[in-house]
Amino acid sequence: MSQPDHRRAMDASLLTLFWEDFELVCYESLGANGLLIKLKLTASHPPCCSRCGQSTWLIHDVSYRRVRERDLFQYRVWLDIPVRRVRRPACGPDESVLPG
Ligand SMILES: [Zn+2]
Repeated sequence: MSQPDHRRAMDASLLTLFWEDFELVCYESLGANGLLIKLKLTASHPPCCSRCGQSTWLIHDVSYRRVRERDLFQYRVWLDIPVRRVRRPACGPDESVLPG
């Protein structure tokens, strides 16, 4: 298989991995057989406060969490996922979990 064909097949497969609220930023090799995929939020809807459950755009900060995805071809796949934490005046800073 030529390299361009291989890359196209991988791009198509990667698209199926993503959740609705994320899109691909880039991917890079992680060791010999590792693949790190960096995602960003498309932010179609605001996150929810973990304390009261209300959605809000009062974002406190965004951190990245690395999680293991299923293997893709010969690659061990990891995702860097942005996790938003909110800070509502009534609730204070949020300790959010992974989206979904
Ligand atoms: Zn709240």
